[in-house]
Amino acid sequence: EKELLKQLKDKEAISKDGVKVGAWANIGSPKDIDGVLRNGAQGIGLYRTEFLFMNNDRFPTEDEQFEAYKIVAEKMQGKPVTIRTMDIGGDKSLPYMELPKEENPFLGWRAIRVCLDRPEILKTQFRALLRASAFGHIKIMLPMIMDINEIRRARKLLEECKAELREEGAKFDKNIALGIMVETPAVAFRAKYFAEEVDFFSIGTNDLTQYTLAVDRGNENISHLYNTYNPAVLEAIRLAIQGAHEAGITISMCGEFAGDANATPILLGMGLDAFSMSAISIPKVKKNIMSLDKKKCEILVEEVMKQTTPDDVLKIVKKFNEENS
Ligand code: PEP
Ligand code: MG
Repeated sequence: EKELLKQLKDKEAISKDGVKVGAWANIGSPKDIDGVLRNGAQGIGLYRTEFLFMNNDRFPTEDEQFEAYKIVAEKMQGKPVTIRTMDIGGDKSLPYMELPKEENPFLGWRAIRVCLDRPEILKTQFRALLRASAFGHIKIMLPMIMDINEIRRARKLLEECKAELREEGAKFDKNIALGIMVETPAVAFRAKYFAEEVDFFSIGTNDLTQYTLAVDRGNENISHLYNTYNPAVLEAIRLAIQGAHEAGITISMCGEFAGDANATPILLGMGLDAFSMSAISIPKVKKNIMSLDKKKCEILVEEVMKQTTPDDVLKIVKKFNEENS
């Protein structure tokens, strides 16, 4: 294991037939960066900022947020750092913010919905992100999008923040990228149209699986039904990648599926541009990519999409992996 880490740390994730993809890390705090660098990540594909909000007894100020984002941007030395705006609600609560008791929190007041209803929260975060963008390569990512208007409203707030900062003479990356998570079927079905509105996509398979299958991701009674290898979820992933590429933007994946060693050939074959996962999974997935032929993976995907049950998918994928490792 340690040996593998050392061997692969500075290598790029390039398939046998020469296709380069990104191997990125997910983080929840600036403290995670050392592990990220140790495991040879080429960027951060998801920084879950809600922990900054949750481990607190009030909203973090603009300056507090700025400091956290700046540290990450600086430590990554120009490598991309994708920072997701606050994804609160669903299963995540804030001790200092009254969230309504809901029958279906995962379908309720969550993430971008909260942020657009409380624009001062989003604007504070945008200002902090913009200011930190002067210290590295920051990209902004919006969670739980399902309607194009959500993107347009968020972008308008972002532009307001840029205008304010310009007025104040603050430095920031004026071309900062704005992207969205693909975690609702609504976006997957209409991927091309969403892709035309943003700079990048990242697939959140944890929620995309939950919302495609109508299976609560945290409910143990139905955990046997929660399966990203379900052909309907794979179809949603395929549509998202296809739509992104039709519109000419890149697409990564930051849900758990990106770090699933069995899934690598499916995702490479579908054309995913970058894999983002917990740092410890990076060497293993990098090694997989380097041992795979993308052309062969494309043929595997054709076979996979003809299967009708998750078990059948897994069976042919496992067989493929045994023959190709
Ligand atoms: C996801 O939904 O796949 C994701 C990466 O976001 P989170 O797990 O934080 O909801
Ligand atoms: Mg999610």
